[in-house]
Amino acid sequence: MYRLKLRAMPDVWNTEKLAELDKRHLWHPFTQMRDWCDPGHEPLILVRGEGAMLEDSRGRRYLDGNSSIWTNIHGHSHPHITRAVHEQLDLVSHVSFLGTTNAPSIRLAERLCDFFPKNTLTRAFLSDDGSTAIEAAMKMAVQFHQLTGNPHRSGFVAFDNAYHGDTLGAASIGGIGTFHKKIEGHKFPVHRISDPEELDALPAWREGLIAAAAIEPLIQGAAGMRTWPKGLLSRLRKKCNEAGVFLILDEVMTGFGRTGTMFACQQEQVIPDFLCLAKGLSGGYMPLAATLTTEKIFEAFLGDFSEGKTFYYGHSYSGNPLGCAAALANLEVFEKESTLENLQPKIQKLTSLLDQLRVVPQVHEIRQCGFIAGIDIGRPDGTKLPWQERTGARICLAARNHGLLTRPILDTLVFIPPLCTTEAQLESGISALERAIQEVSGPS
Ligand SMILES: *Cc1c(COP(=O)(O)O)cnc(C)c1O
Repeated sequence: MYRLKLRAMPDVWNTEKLAELDKRHLWHPFTQMRDWCDPGHEPLILVRGEGAMLEDSRGRRYLDGNSSIWTNIHGHSHPHITRAVHEQLDLVSHVSFLGTTNAPSIRLAERLCDFFPKNTLTRAFLSDDGSTAIEAAMKMAVQFHQLTGNPHRSGFVAFDNAYHGDTLGAASIGGIGTFHKKIEGHKFPVHRISDPEELDALPAWREGLIAAAAIEPLIQGAAGMRTWPKGLLSRLRKKCNEAGVFLILDEVMTGFGRTGTMFACQQEQVIPDFLCLAKGLSGGYMPLAATLTTEKIFEAFLGDFSEGKTFYYGHSYSGNPLGCAAALANLEVFEKESTLENLQPKIQKLTSLLDQLRVVPQVHEIRQCGFIAGIDIGRPDGTKLPWQERTGARICLAARNHGLLTRPILDTLVFIPPLCTTEAQLESGISALERAIQEVSGPS
């Protein structure tokens, strides 16, 4: 009945026209545009959001099962965040961060540093995206060593299958073949490991040629939601301390409650030399990023102007007041709504729902870290599906018909809904996945 009523609704968005123009003029990220532009493909045009739900131009509603590519925290159109952005809009939308400053940026920097023990992470460098947060950390690490008489410390250590963003610096330390092979030859030196114990055998590590090691703590996102063994993060911290190597933590995905604690590093009592934040920093409302670092690193860049120690890095929209206002409101909601406390029973609910999925023959393995889940699918006989068949993508497409929006990583289905998602919404989301799995790869 609901559907019938919708069909009768006038298409106020003129969906077909918009779709045609999209196909004619846009180029979407991480997208094979021949498939996208195929006449059989109807682009989903999202027009509205409320809480964990999104609505398309035809009035259909979906659970935002991947938090709009891992960014949204407290839901869409949250009144507190919306109001904060409106208030800032009425004051000023953007002012330069080169030579002037603004109140939301100042307050945000203080709030972010306050999450960490005194005299640890005390400085916030603001930029726009996860990639730029990483880029800034890498440049700071290299320049620190130049400034302190160790210019040979210029290499990086990163993990197999890591993903740290798409700008060239960030992509250099990425380790996913499909994304990163194409820029081979344009990269700077990176040494790849799969476990911190390998470091002692690495000549560059022993010879003091490494500036920093980077890791996505607790769970690698783009690798297919792969969780690290417990204790790996603290082992890496220890190795870095012993070798005088900086530790860059990429909490672009894991930050802001996603793993159950405000930051993933808190679960192993690790404090990095650089903490990179983006995606959820603004609650998923604005492009905004922060690279937090220590006073020791900051001070190495101080000196007479003529010494040339200045950190020459920045973007036009660095310290954007709208983004910072959204981020401050995002942090306030954590307190007002006791988000992390309320999240714990929902994490358990998710665990039990995922357990029910485990009996599905096409489900090979499920990994969960807080409110993040990766579900590997394959053939019922336990063998892998040919990746070219894009079964994961077809399952996610089928899930749309059951009211769930998400995007897989090859044959890993990703479920990472906003923290405000209710238990009932979790149930319908997982049930949508289950039905979609059966429709696409069920008994044939
Ligand atoms: C998304 C992501 C990035 C890149 O962030 P962008 O905002 O897309 O540039 C970096 N690291 C991790 C772990 C991510 O998930």
